[in-house]
Amino acid sequence: MKSTFQIAVFQGDGIGPEIMAPTVELLSGLATAGGYGLNFADAPAGAAHYRDTGESFPVASMEAARSADAILLSAMGLPDVRYPDGTEISPQIDLRKALTLFAGVRPITIRPGQPTPLATDKPVDFVLIRESTEGLFYTQGRGEVERDEARETLRITRAICEPLFKFAFDLAASRKAAGRGPGKVTCVDKANVFRAFAFFREMFDAEAAKHPGLEADHAYVDATALWMVERPWSFDVMVTENMFGDILSDLGAGLMGGLGLAPSADIGADHAVFQPCHGSAPDIAGQGVANPMAMILSAAMMLEWLGGRHGVPAMTADGARLRDAVDKVVAEARVLTRDLGGTAGTADVAAAVKEALA
Ligand code: NAD
Repeated sequence: MKSTFQIAVFQGDGIGPEIMAPTVELLSGLATAGGYGLNFADAPAGAAHYRDTGESFPVASMEAARSADAILLSAMGLPDVRYPDGTEISPQIDLRKALTLFAGVRPITIRPGQPTPLATDKPVDFVLIRESTEGLFYTQGRGEVERDEARETLRITRAICEPLFKFAFDLAASRKAAGRGPGKVTCVDKANVFRAFAFFREMFDAEAAKHPGLEADHAYVDATALWMVERPWSFDVMVTENMFGDILSDLGAGLMGGLGLAPSADIGADHAVFQPCHGSAPDIAGQGVANPMAMILSAAMMLEWLGGRHGVPAMTADGARLRDAVDKVVAEARVLTRDLGGTAGTADVAAAVKEALA
């Protein structure tokens, strides 16, 4: 059984290196105590790298990502560093395409003590899966624009949807086994209007039939936006098309009181990238005040994914422990960064998470 794993690390731009350093330190401590190995290797890329070298994503860094067991990424991009065509440097999007990372996993969790605009104390804990390689992003950068008309194409394929829906049901099963949900998957679509979404739903139903121990239901995307605000606790795992998921995941971040506690994973058949939902926050970079929690929670997802994939229970357990440690620090509300209403710095929060782990 494999017990040592190669992790490609994209330190990124802005606050990226500041939140990555304590995360790698926490992971190293867990690995040492847990009897598994994590070898971290830096993969240079991003806006600052482009500014300094003229290269945004060196071939060697892509190769390091491709050959790694998992990829940890902080955030990339700086608004004032751009390609000659005016677009930003975003290797994280190149990675998603190059490694066919079709499942964008966005946990929406409201912990006790977490600021939220919702007037509820009911716990909220569901996962939104955004298909991330096709849908309405299929013609991204290739849309046709004429003088009086513009066209983009929405593409839904069996090759992507079948593994996507399998992933969604497997996730619901593992959450149910861990006591985190009833084992339900909701297909979010617009099958009442578009034939492509009727096709999407048909493939979802075919996968649902293979999981008699799990519940499956459907919801239209417009109603889903309403229900995410009115009764978010009723969801467990939801799976949807790329653009719908893009919009709903920001609604989810809003429910969570912002981006400081929003982790994510982009997962494919053979590769996965774990990164916070937020960007490089250049406005606070270099000050030591960035919240490292979303990065740490993304690392927890990485441990759970690697542990499940390679059958290493210690890693899976450490993923849950790391998440619980963050939950504890949030609930105690003693050591929080400014975005969560506190005054602590990045290092203080990392130290508090380490203490909560012990
Ligand atoms: P942003 O998420 O970087 O920042 C938005 C606001 O949230 C800022 O006020 C920032 O200070 C705050 N914030 C974000 N993360 C924080 C943290 N961990 N702790 C405390 N406060 C935090 O979004 P933006 O300003 O629109 O984008 C900045 C750069 O990041 C841009 O170049 C953008 O393209 C890039 N970006 C990258 C990713 C990614 O790598 N996945 C995602 C979004 C934006």
